[in-house]
Amino acid sequence: MSKRHLPKKTVSAIGDARIAVLTSLSLDAVKAGKGDRARRYVQLARSIGMKTRTGIPRDFRYCKGCLLPMVPGVNCTVRLTGGKMVSGCECGRIWRMPYNKERSG
Ligand SMILES: [Zn+2]
Repeated sequence: MSKRHLPKKTVSAIGDARIAVLTSLSLDAVKAGKGDRARRYVQLARSIGMKTRTGIPRDFRYCKGCLLPMVPGVNCTVRLTGGKMVSGCECGRIWRMPYNKERSG
């Protein structure tokens, strides 16, 4: 049933470290114009996150539709309209999020 017995803390520490590497690699790939590679890195980071019960950090934004990391000015449009931030991806997906002065959560 269980493969290896590692403490949960160890597993999530390993997961965090690997996700940090993958997210930074994927940002580099986007900046280098290698979208496919960037998507693959995000895919890997997500599956590691699920396995190790860690998540992708909040400050790393990616498109939920095509898994492309969002880099404003490179592949994503950001507009501010009346208290809402509207982001758009290359794939045509658009989403809005309210922004507060006091960041709650
Ligand atoms: Zn997209």
